[in-house]
Amino acid sequence: MRLVFIGPPGAGKGTQAAMLSSALGVPHISTGDLFRRHRERRTPLGRDAERYLDAGELVPDSVTVDMVRMRLDEPDARHGFILDGFPRTVPQADGLTLLLDGSGVKLDAVVEFTAPEDVLVDRLLARGRQDDAEDVIRNRQRVYHRDTAPVLAYYADLLVSVDAVGGAEQIADEVLTRLQAEPQAGRHQRHRGN
Ligand code: AMP
Repeated sequence: MRLVFIGPPGAGKGTQAAMLSSALGVPHISTGDLFRRHRERRTPLGRDAERYLDAGELVPDSVTVDMVRMRLDEPDARHGFILDGFPRTVPQADGLTLLLDGSGVKLDAVVEFTAPEDVLVDRLLARGRQDDAEDVIRNRQRVYHRDTAPVLAYYADLLVSVDAVGGAEQIADEVLTRLQAEPQAGRHQRHRGN
């Protein structure tokens, strides 16, 4: 399975990606985690990315797509993956399409996690990561609506929307059921509630 998980910060896509990565036997690739690891190791990429992470802004597309290209070239990603937090812009989605076309493969589905903004902000404040100060959280929400929401239209034919309010296990079950139930074409006509 080749999946993309999209959702606003705090929607729980990282938790879902970790759970479903074991359930489906494919690696969980989080661009946020990759950037944070580069930052901890003080690599040149990490040093370049740092100021964007701290401001809740997006790292430039070319840097991000290059990092993903290298990760997808690793052997464990050959037969499938869950991309968590990528693509986050339409140019990144174009970049991913080119990468996948180059390998002659396609995405199976794009899962969108939805939740009201007050739920998202409360979850992130409770989590307390380095970039979870309230002003940075609000900025990450703004950036999501501005830059990432258009990616949903890009993937209209592959989109599966899931309500992300509730227990993690229950949401993971719902994602698995939806992935099994829905044929690839025309998925977008059968969203639940939105
Ligand atoms: P996340 O862990 O997904 O919440 O991402 C944390 C931060 O990493 C974001 O606020 C961005 O600064 C950066 N980041 C993660 N994924 C991307 C991406 N696809 N494009 C650009 N920046 C990203």
